[in-house]
Amino acid sequence: MDDCIFCKIANGEMDTQFLYEDETVVVFNDIQPKADTHILVVSKKHIPSLIHLNDEDTTLMGHMVQMLPKMASKLGINSFRTIVNTGAESGQEVDHLHFHLLSGNLRPFG
Ligand code: 5GP
Ligand code: ZN
Repeated sequence: MDDCIFCKIANGEMDTQFLYEDETVVVFNDIQPKADTHILVVSKKHIPSLIHLNDEDTTLMGHMVQMLPKMASKLGINSFRTIVNTGAESGQEVDHLHFHLLSGNLRPFG
């Protein structure tokens, strides 16, 4: 998607430093952190939200979920909150699938 900020980040067009990258996901720090640690696990594929998942995305979704404890371990965190906003009323601002991982001094969301 040409006008999607997370597609641009995932394509390496935004100079965003990745904490992790593979063929299907990237992980980077949230630009407006709401906890001491606030990272985003983002699919490389443009999927607007959970509502738009297809059967073909099952492997990707499993991988994204497994990235959460893996990243926590990498960052030395053993307690964290995971958030996926779906739809504008939930607070979703970027219409490209992503998991928030937050830990430490969590601040109000939305
Ligand atoms: P949502 O509200 O869609 O669940 O979460 C979007 C998140 O992306 C927000 O926490 C916001 O701070 C973050 N974000 C938006 N634009 C950028 C950006 O250009 N770079 C980074 N690193 N994070 C962003
Ligand atoms: Zn996108």
